[in-house]
Amino acid sequence: MAVPLLDLTRQYAYLKPEMDRAVLKVLTHNKFILGPEVTRLEEEIAGLSGVGFGIGVASGTDALLIALRAAGVGPGDEVITTDFSFFSTAGVVSRLGAIPVFVDIDPDSYNVDATRIELAVTKRTKAIMPVHLFGQVADMDPIMEVATKHNLKVIEDAAQAIGAEYKGQPAGSMGDFGCFSFYPSKNLGASGDGGVIVTKTEENNKLCRSLRAHGENPKYYHRVVGYNSRLDTLQAAILLVKLPYLREWSKKRQEHASRYDQAFAGLPYLKTPVVKEYSTFHIYNQYTLASPNRDEILSGLKKAEIGHCVYYPVAFHAQECFASLGYKADDFPISSKASREVFSIPIYPELTEQEQDEVIETIKHLVS
Ligand SMILES: *Cc1c(COP(=O)(O)O)cnc(C)c1O
Repeated sequence: MAVPLLDLTRQYAYLKPEMDRAVLKVLTHNKFILGPEVTRLEEEIAGLSGVGFGIGVASGTDALLIALRAAGVGPGDEVITTDFSFFSTAGVVSRLGAIPVFVDIDPDSYNVDATRIELAVTKRTKAIMPVHLFGQVADMDPIMEVATKHNLKVIEDAAQAIGAEYKGQPAGSMGDFGCFSFYPSKNLGASGDGGVIVTKTEENNKLCRSLRAHGENPKYYHRVVGYNSRLDTLQAAILLVKLPYLREWSKKRQEHASRYDQAFAGLPYLKTPVVKEYSTFHIYNQYTLASPNRDEILSGLKKAEIGHCVYYPVAFHAQECFASLGYKADDFPISSKASREVFSIPIYPELTEQEQDEVIETIKHLVS
């Protein structure tokens, strides 16, 4: 039996009447740009994140880009971030003419090793951008401590972690800015691109709102040059239908994860995900295993038609586009190893027990 890595059609089948109604409503009221659904979604996501403000933007990437701009990051500034994430995290820093400074990761969480961040601080450091990879929060307390000590802004890349918690605090609520993505494969996915920034202060809120609309404030007056980056009303309407299910869906993912954990416990050369004690709500955007025999396992999975993907096969320091930054692989032993060993398997909420059994049996067979 083939098992897809992700099957979005099941979610639509389940929500079809509600989603169709929500889309038709927008097609009827015609407030396509920053319509009432966008405002409502912004309020809901801010509420979920325990902060005062939400700003809908065109993608998770733009959420990061605009948050960095609002944090004052510009040409020549340094931004400290993880060496191991989706490309966006580092790409947005370079796009602003700033310099991404990569830090190696924790071998268990695959998140930035918080104990190494202070070593990377220089006079030019402007911000720290931790990523909550695979749905598990980074170790925020020591990160915030370094930020406070050195007067740095913190932008949380929470694209994979909407609804996740650190010692009970929502992802996105601890730094100056939290950035979420509604890319379809995220836990809360739109039918296309979308993103949102959350923030605690009115000043940051105003700045982000202005930057997403060409930098205008008031209308047609520009003190800064911004972007055309708004969340579509249609996407907001779809997201509002899905939002009430988000917690339940993330709990389903947790159930699948614990079933996998039990099934894979003790298998040779197979590392299961480690949940850190501070990670009080892991949302498992991915269930990521690691093995030194990864490539053999992957060809077996391919043959058995079990969906899988490597997030991520190349760490930032090794990307060709960052060669000029002059990093050496020796500087990043942990992320280099992760990029050679990790792979993710199906964990979406609608995964059936039979499908999960199929994945489990196939992997057990391949590793023993
Ligand atoms: C998905 C993702 C992004 C970018 O989001 P888009 O909506 O695809 O632009 C940024 N960072 C991380 C860690 C992501 O997983």
